[in-house]
Amino acid sequence: MCYAIPGRVKSVRDKTVLVDYFGEEKKAYNEIDGLSAGDYIYAQGGYVIEKIPAPEAEAILSVWKETFFELQEVDVLLSRVDLEAKGIDPRVGRILDRAANGRKPSKDEVLELLNHEDTGSLTLFFKIANFLRQKNLKNSCCVHGILEISNYCSESCAYCGISSHHRGLSRYRMSPEEIVSAACEAVGKYGFKALVLQSGEDAGYRVEELAGVIRTIKEKTPALIFVSFGEVGIQGLEKLYQAGARGLLMRFETSNPELYGRFHPGAKLETRLEHLRKAYEMGYMIITGGLIGLPGQTRKDLADDISLTRDLRAEMYSFGPFLPHPETPLGEVLPVGETEVLKVLAASRLIDPLEAKILVTTAFETLSSEARRKGLLAGANSVMMNITPVEYRRQYAIYPNRAWENDLIEKQIEETISLLRSLGRAPTDLSVREKSNP
Ligand code: SF4
Repeated sequence: MCYAIPGRVKSVRDKTVLVDYFGEEKKAYNEIDGLSAGDYIYAQGGYVIEKIPAPEAEAILSVWKETFFELQEVDVLLSRVDLEAKGIDPRVGRILDRAANGRKPSKDEVLELLNHEDTGSLTLFFKIANFLRQKNLKNSCCVHGILEISNYCSESCAYCGISSHHRGLSRYRMSPEEIVSAACEAVGKYGFKALVLQSGEDAGYRVEELAGVIRTIKEKTPALIFVSFGEVGIQGLEKLYQAGARGLLMRFETSNPELYGRFHPGAKLETRLEHLRKAYEMGYMIITGGLIGLPGQTRKDLADDISLTRDLRAEMYSFGPFLPHPETPLGEVLPVGETEVLKVLAASRLIDPLEAKILVTTAFETLSSEARRKGLLAGANSVMMNITPVEYRRQYAIYPNRAWENDLIEKQIEETISLLRSLGRAPTDLSVREKSNP
């Protein structure tokens, strides 16, 4: 099973290589010694992660070639837009018309879009987002594997089922050997190219220990590694980067400091943003975003959240519905409907049409069985699969009954590939956002 298409290096200049994919050229950042024109590589998130032997690459490319163009045709058909559609609010129509022609909406216009409820306008809104995704990023859909290494957390976020105040939860912490073994299996056996290692803020691991785990994974297997261990400090981020981590998944949850303070006792929004900004300067790819439907949150807050995600130069936007765990102070709050989430995904695409990866989160998949299909048709181009050993997964209960909680990786792969094919998407990552200064 393969989650990347091999590319052929056309030229190498310093750390930048130009890579050919069936006639399309993409830039990637290279950290592998001795790479030269004519070599075959796998790249992920704009990084060269592995050089592969020519016979192996050519065999994979011959399988992909026909499929790749067939999928693109399906995708093009599904992303057509009728700009003359009837029943559209004229103000929404103007914003969407301009967006389709390359003018990004202002924050006020995003708010206008989020405030609309009528079916005709929303249908066009989602279709334009999908059209822009297809036009600018074609049919690649990036697939990451997420490995939840520990459900210990010292924080007490008012909605989270693994927070420190959930005393009844049984806790686990994977050993370094278990983490390395699960990561190597995900890459070697199942073909993942990008992994997210995630935990609560767990003082049971020292940063040096986590860095050692990353180093070992990188020595044993080629993978693009994202970390998501909470606020490990700026020095901690540096150590993890030096060890080989190249991405940071850290959501700011809400850009409204008052709401942030209310639901994250003892924590400050500014500290979180400082981590994200410094991480970007270090060269990390950033995955960030927020919660949709926090009590007291307005649609203006959501428009601000989307703008902040863009301002943080996120490689990937991660917005999911607020799903409180019942055993928490906010356990009684009801989640938003599916449409509110789709609006945020589509608005994210409109303000960042050229490069952004937009994720269909597991929380959205938990809220709606149609989340992936509808999200991918509303501007999204990224999904995650849970590669945590099944015996631990249920204990990572940030909210209950998470999507894919009991499904083996094989089943997740089968269903994901089948859905992506039906939508004309290729489970690969050819898109590249310019790096800060790695
Ligand atoms: S949301 Fe994150 S930081 Fe907050 S309690 Fe849950 S795992 Fe910990």
